[in-house]
Amino acid sequence: MEYITYDYAIIGAGAAGLNLALCMLEDPFFDDKAIVIFDKDLKNANDRTWCFWEKGAGRWDGVVSHKWGKAVVTDTNTKQYTLSLDPFTYKMIHSDDFYRFAKDKIRASGIIDWVTAEVEQVNIINGAQEIQAQKRYLITRHTFDSRIASKFNHDTSSIKLLQHFKGWVVETDAPAFDPSAFVMMDFSLRWKDTTSFTYVLPFSATKALVEFTLFSPDLIQNEEYDTMLKQYVTEILDIKKYNILASEQGVIPMSDYPFHHQNNDSLTKIGTAGAWVKPSSGYSFKNTERYSLRIIDNIKKGLVPSKNIIRKKYRYYDSVFLNVLYHRNELGPELFTIMYGKNPIEKIFDFLDEQTSLLDDIRIMNTFPKAPFNKAVFRKLVS
Ligand SMILES: Cc1cc2nc3c(=O)[nH]c(=O)nc-3n(C[C@H](O)[C@H](O)[C@H](O)COP(=O)(O)OP(=O)(O)OC[C@H]3O[C@@H](n4cnc5c(N)ncnc54)[C@H](O)[C@@H]3O)c2cc1C
Repeated sequence: MEYITYDYAIIGAGAAGLNLALCMLEDPFFDDKAIVIFDKDLKNANDRTWCFWEKGAGRWDGVVSHKWGKAVVTDTNTKQYTLSLDPFTYKMIHSDDFYRFAKDKIRASGIIDWVTAEVEQVNIINGAQEIQAQKRYLITRHTFDSRIASKFNHDTSSIKLLQHFKGWVVETDAPAFDPSAFVMMDFSLRWKDTTSFTYVLPFSATKALVEFTLFSPDLIQNEEYDTMLKQYVTEILDIKKYNILASEQGVIPMSDYPFHHQNNDSLTKIGTAGAWVKPSSGYSFKNTERYSLRIIDNIKKGLVPSKNIIRKKYRYYDSVFLNVLYHRNELGPELFTIMYGKNPIEKIFDFLDEQTSLLDDIRIMNTFPKAPFNKAVFRKLVS
């Protein structure tokens, strides 16, 4: 059998794989390295909308299609909190724009080979990785793998919530949206006894993405998301006439499963498969950028690429919060309203970005009710 040899292989040209590939292209350290990226798909569909917050200009501004400087959170009693995000901006990217941008850079570079094929097996041979992908065989020194381990689906020892949602891009004849502020969480309409809310990204006064979202252990039926969306649009937004231009659906695992335990000297799990999704929020796009840069830094220092990319303090906080949401799912609306209503938004974004001091963390934690969190800590201690 004839093998092609690479220094690095990236399995999956999604958010994580492409981000890592672009970080490699931007660093001259990788100019003389042989790199390959695999994806089973062509990566040209607009299959998701990514949003994230950041201060000032950012590396994706060329593909950002919308930005907002204000966010609205509405509690279960329909009380609204309008938050000025300054110095942050909330930015949105259509995935097809991101894929096109990344693919163009990769193709133009001549440094990274792009292979459209499904990776079927990865084996360790003499400390190197052997990758099999539809009759292609190659050897690589290190593999970055965004396939989610099948063990995750059968694991019963971790907490597993799902962030699941369906959204409609709605267009109206008359002005119905405030394009200067997006709705982060509107808890005025909920699926019974769950952490559920509506998220609205207004593109103009007459067009918005309206998404009904749940953080819960189980999915609901497709028609049930539609019922909730219809109720939100007609009753909460009081829109009588509208067209649905497109829809988006997704499921994001929110779990304390130790995805990163599979990492070793020659393999790093990346993206959702590597625990890059923040378990308590489901956001991962900015983590992807941060963690990719940490990997690059580790490689250049001769360290194991996955060393310290996940910060333990925050994983502990996430696991406690997830434990509360799992066992007291109905508390989510109150907890998120406290989080955004009683803390400066800048501190919350820093906290979710894992950039806060211990004193900041304590201040934020003190705004939450103690009992459910103490019980979660106790459950974790005895489990
Ligand atoms: C609809 C949706 C909306 C989201 N919105 C946000 C958001 O607003 N903000 C945010 O921060 N996060 C968001 N997320 C969460 C997260 O950012 C995304 O899921 C992100 O795409 C995860 O990146 P990833 O690289 O791990 O996975 P993906 O982007 O899904 O990429 C994995 C890639 O691996 C490929 N692949 C899988 N198996 C193989 C194989 N055997 N061989 C070859 N290729 C393979 C797949 O084709 C895919 O291209 C969203 C998720 C979804 C589903």
